[in-house]
Parts: sequence; C-alpha cells; structure tokens
Amino acid sequence: MARILVVDNDPGFVRMARGVLYTDGYLVQVATDSSEALSLMEHAIPDLVLLDNQFRREIDGVDLMDAMSRNTRLRQIPKVIVVDSAPEGSDEPGDSLENALWLSKPVKPETLSDAVAGQVTRTAFVYSPQHGEYEYGPDHPMEPRRALETVELCHKYGLLDKPWVDVVEPQPAGVEDMVLFHDRDYLAALQEANDGVFVESMIEFGLGTMDCPVFPGVYDYSALATGGTLLAASLVDGGRYDLAFNLSGGFHHAHHRNAEGFCYVNDIAIAIRHLLRKGRRIAYVDLDAHHGDGVQDAFYNDNRVLTISLHESGKTLFPWSGFETEIGAGDGRGYNINVPLPPQTDDEVFLEAFHKVVPEAVAAFDPDIVFALVGADGLLADPLSHLALTNNAYAEAAMVIEAISPECVVLGGGGYQMNSVARAWCLTWAVMNGIEPEDEYAGTIGGMMLGTEYVEGGGLRDRHAYTTGPLKAEIRKEVVRVTEYIKDTVFSLITPST
Ligand SMILES: [Zn+2]
Repeated sequence: MARILVVDNDPGFVRMARGVLYTDGYLVQVATDSSEALSLMEHAIPDLVLLDNQFRREIDGVDLMDAMSRNTRLRQIPKVIVVDSAPEGSDEPGDSLENALWLSKPVKPETLSDAVAGQVTRTAFVYSPQHGEYEYGPDHPMEPRRALETVELCHKYGLLDKPWVDVVEPQPAGVEDMVLFHDRDYLAALQEANDGVFVESMIEFGLGTMDCPVFPGVYDYSALATGGTLLAASLVDGGRYDLAFNLSGGFHHAHHRNAEGFCYVNDIAIAIRHLLRKGRRIAYVDLDAHHGDGVQDAFYNDNRVLTISLHESGKTLFPWSGFETEIGAGDGRGYNINVPLPPQTDDEVFLEAFHKVVPEAVAAFDPDIVFALVGADGLLADPLSHLALTNNAYAEAAMVIEAISPECVVLGGGGYQMNSVARAWCLTWAVMNGIEPEDEYAGTIGGMMLGTEYVEGGGLRDRHAYTTGPLKAEIRKEVVRVTEYIKDTVFSLITPST
C-alpha cells in the first residue's frame, strides 16, 4: 500500500486530503511542521509527499524540498506534489521544481485523487475473462474457471478498485514469441489440436493424454495465457508498475517439445527468455506443490536465471523430480535450488524452509525482476498434493517476495479445489498490495461460504491448521536437513551481476 505524507498546517486541507486518500486506500500520515515532517520521513520513507508550498521557508524557515534533496535517504522519496495557495485559475506557481507536480489551491477532492493516483507506483492485474471459459473436459482437475471466481472475490473485497491498480487485458502471444522456448513442430501440432480433434501423430508431443487432453481452443487458451505473462513482464520491466499478476499464467511443466502436467505452453520460460534478451537477470520462485521442472530444464545451465522451487518431494508427487541435489550445471551450477518437502508439511515448516532459503539466495543473486509462481495446490484442501498448507503460508511467502523484489511478476499455476484457490489468490493479491482484506464479505461468493470444513475461517484467511506429533518432528527434521544441504552446497556458488 502506498504511504503518503501530507505536510500542511491548514486543518481544512488536511481533513479533506486525509479523507480522500484514506477512502482511496492509501496509508496517510500528517505533519504540521517541518521537523515533524522530517522525522516521519526518516522513520519510514513515504511513497509520496503532499507538501504545502508554504513549507518551503515561509512558515518555519526550513525549505523542506531542499532538506529532502540534501539527505541521501530522503532522496529515495519517489514523488512530491506541491500544493500552492495561489487562487484557482491563476498561473502555475512560477518556481519550478524538478520531479514535483503542482496543484493550485483550493484543491478539489477529485483533482487530488487523480493527481495522487497518477504519481504513485502502480500494480497491474492482468486478466482476460475469455481465459476462464476454456474447458479441459469433464472430470479434469484443471478448471480455468477458477480465475473468474478469483476475480469475483477480488471485486467483492474492492481489491481491483484501488487507485493504483490497473486491470489490464492481455492479447494472445504469437508463434514468434512462443519459439523463444518451444519447437516449431510442437507449436504446429498444438495449433492443429485447436479444433479439439485428436489425431494419432499428436501423441509424440504429449497431446491427447489424460493430463493434457486435446480440447477446443487448446492453442488459443495457451497463447492467451502466454500473452498475459509477456504483458505482465513488460509492464514491470517498463518501470511504471512494481507488480503484475497474471493469475491465468504459470504453466511450469510444459517442455520444449511436449505438453505435460496440464501445461501446453511454458509462458514462464518464454517471458524470462524475452527479458534475458534485454539483458535482465531473473529470479524465479515457485511455490506450487509440484516441482517446476519445465522452468528448471529451460535454465539449468544458465547463470542469468536463479530458479528456486519449493514443492512436495518427487518421491511422492508428479513430476517425480526436484531433489535438492539438482543444483544446475555448467555456468548454471548453483543457480537452481530445490526444496523438496515431505507429505503433510504444514505452514510452519514450509515457512521455515522458505525463510531460510529464499531471501538470502535472492539477495545474493541480485535480480532485476522476480517471477513468483503461487500455485495453490499445496493447500490442505487440494485433491492432488499431500501438503497441508493454509492460505496464510502463501500470503506470508508472497509478502516476503514482494518486499525483496525490485519488480515482481506473479503467476497463478496449479490449484484444484476451486474455492480454496480463489481465496488464496485473492488474499495473495491483497497482501502483495499491502492490504489486509476486511472480513465484511467473510470469503463468500454468491452467498456461499467458501473454504473446506477443515480450514473454513470467518474471512478470507484460512484458520490455522498444523501437523502435530511424531510426524511433524520427522517432517521438520527432513526439511532442516535439506535446507542445511542447500546452504552448504549452493549459497556460496551464487554471485550477483558484475
Ligand atoms: Zn501444481
């Protein structure tokens, strides 16, 4: 959430600004003199300062803009809006200040709302309703419709109406984008499958299996998901957005020449390759219950991409890979981290592993952009995995990722208990925007309480649920062993760009 500091001693203006900005969802602080303003700014760097021009000397002799520009720490404040008491309709204040936007008093609430929204860093929710309408077929666990439910829930909590949030509709990716990772023969076969008719020759590409059925629009569906991830990547790479979430992306099992594990086109590998061509360094953090094998394979020999995957162990879950000993090869040695977790791993152990590995590895690598895959199939209610997480674990991990990322692309991924997925992704989007959702709607869609019997809480957050007894001790011992191995073996191999 954007933090805004209002510096003014005019009670009327302060009351109006506080009301407007609070309603718009910002965190608002007020200072009525220069020393209070400086001390608040030193304590926590605001995202924007709304400064009455009189505080540039006239009131207490301190030119706040000048003081800010001379202080290294305060120079980090990205934006300043200067409010001047010139009567409405008069010319812009003569004094020009670089990077400052001027507003003439009296300021109308709508003007202030628009001006602030135009200055704070934005987040993008990448979404096409069309993507949720494709169907893998009856009885298939993957239901693209979960995206529609997530959006409905986000709307109920007002999470897409914040002034810094843009909902952006993607266009399908073209073949020339998809060949950044995929073989042309494979893409031709996938295109042929788009009419929903299976022919024998498709099987060599993994098309027409139980996991990856040939369904009407399968190519269009994959191209649209990939277009969304490419759009998310370009939005954050352009610097205008800090965070972009494509909940319909995240197909981490798709391989160079074949479909696998419900995934046809690897939107992640394609978007990362696109950014590598522009010289960016990328960290990829995969929280899905399944090992991110397709992404690992794409960058196994590459030290420009740090891949980290926390997942249920390959001993008990598809794709049967992702052991801690898979650490990358050649130039990429040390740039691939796997944290396999035993069945029944709960929030506590998951977060212990996450905190031990992710922040330190990402800091050592020093990426330009972080990709996060928040596949919600590790939830207790999920029918496919054997992990025992609640959405609180995803929320905490997502908040940490947001905090350690210069820019962040967030992708959906797995998740097969529809209501739980919608709640988890809605909560993830909320906390990554700095919002703790209020429980007015108690996690309901269409009047129905969501969540499972085990974890159904009063609101969007699941109730805490923990694995206990000797099983918990055994799980924790194994996870401590794995994380110690990673610290000893991998961490010293990671270096930042030079
Ligand atoms: Zn998964």
